[in-house]
Amino acid sequence: MKSLKENFQKAHIVIIGSGIIGKFNALELSELGFKVTIIDPTQLQNSSYAALGLLMGNMYQRRRGRSWDLRKESIELWPQWITFLQKYNSELNIKKPLIQLTTNEEKFKKLEKFIYENNDQNLRILERDSIFIKNINKAFQTKNIKGIISLKDGRINPFSLLQTLDKYLKHKKISFSEVEIIKIRKLNNQWISTTRNNENIKSDMIILCNSLKAINLIDGISHNITLKPVLGQAMEIDINDAEVDLLSLPKQFNINGKNIIPKSKNKLIIGSTDEYSTKPEENTFEKLTNFLDKRPNWLIKGKISKKWYGIRSRPDGEPSPIMKNLEDGLIICTGFYKNGILLAPACSKWVANEIKNYFS
Ligand SMILES: Cc1cc2nc3c(=O)[nH]c(=O)nc-3n(C[C@H](O)[C@H](O)[C@H](O)COP(=O)(O)OP(=O)(O)OC[C@H]3O[C@@H](n4cnc5c(N)ncnc54)[C@H](O)[C@@H]3O)c2cc1C
Repeated sequence: MKSLKENFQKAHIVIIGSGIIGKFNALELSELGFKVTIIDPTQLQNSSYAALGLLMGNMYQRRRGRSWDLRKESIELWPQWITFLQKYNSELNIKKPLIQLTTNEEKFKKLEKFIYENNDQNLRILERDSIFIKNINKAFQTKNIKGIISLKDGRINPFSLLQTLDKYLKHKKISFSEVEIIKIRKLNNQWISTTRNNENIKSDMIILCNSLKAINLIDGISHNITLKPVLGQAMEIDINDAEVDLLSLPKQFNINGKNIIPKSKNKLIIGSTDEYSTKPEENTFEKLTNFLDKRPNWLIKGKISKKWYGIRSRPDGEPSPIMKNLEDGLIICTGFYKNGILLAPACSKWVANEIKNYFS
């Protein structure tokens, strides 16, 4: 009888879409011994490159159900993958901690309840006289900010992560095809992916990791999946105020739903918005900086030095993400409207288990 690994080595898997989900699946499957091909015509413009990279795992307040299970698994897998990927980029890491703040008393009460109920040493309420609260109040000229700190959550730099994955994939000689797939079909137990130039790529399996466009490749009658585009915008702001040192702030934090990442003494990143749209609007600055009753002057006067957006896919009528075995040899892994970076390890593991069962 042939060993499983022998079966795996013979099997060819095509991954359509090279965002974080496609790349992570390629990593997982290549480590299992499969022959992998990734296909993507425009990978540098995807939503993965637009992400801020916050890994909000332990902070997630619903501690049951599929969404929590995926988070929990990813939180456990991330440190192992970081150690593995550091062979390709020794600087890759997760910067901790993560801080969630609010000026809304009711929201704070919920956070407090969550902390008391969970009794987790790595999740704490920030004391009023903590250095974090003091420095945030000083910089943002606020008095009523309260919040929690998660010592085990943090941020991974998405650009660095994607580049490291590319380095790994190149090292493993994984084929990459810079083309668009316009059709897939099954013929005599093989899958055929047809490119826009009418070339056919044969494989034993296909994994659809191409976000919104995944539904264009599947039969809408047999598979009732709807995805809606959700725009996320972020920007980098330069400030000019000698009194404010942004590096005195935590490495990454969230105030009233906006994520803030200080980059230098006078530069910070703010993101992100959630809009059911595909076109960025002009008033991004207002939308992203209006998270306090009164904005500090340095923020009002701040100048946008960079602005970007990404379009994510949100499942309509079912929870995010969509991970399904659509038919023999066809898996879909999409609908990551939020948290695609966080969830990539757990979702790739789910796909790998499905594939291992298929070839066993
Ligand atoms: C501003 C912003 C901030 C965010 N912040 C965070 C965060 O802090 N933490 C977090 O976890 N998540 C965050 N996200 C969400 C995260 O970016 C997404 O969940 C994640 O990137 C989804 O990855 P993906 O691989 O599914 O999709 P994508 O990265 O969009 O990749 C899909 C790929 O499929 C390719 N493709 C499409 N059609 C075809 C085709 N026919 N043939 C071949 N290839 C095709 C596309 O070119 C694309 O490269 C943020 C998103 C945005 C926009």
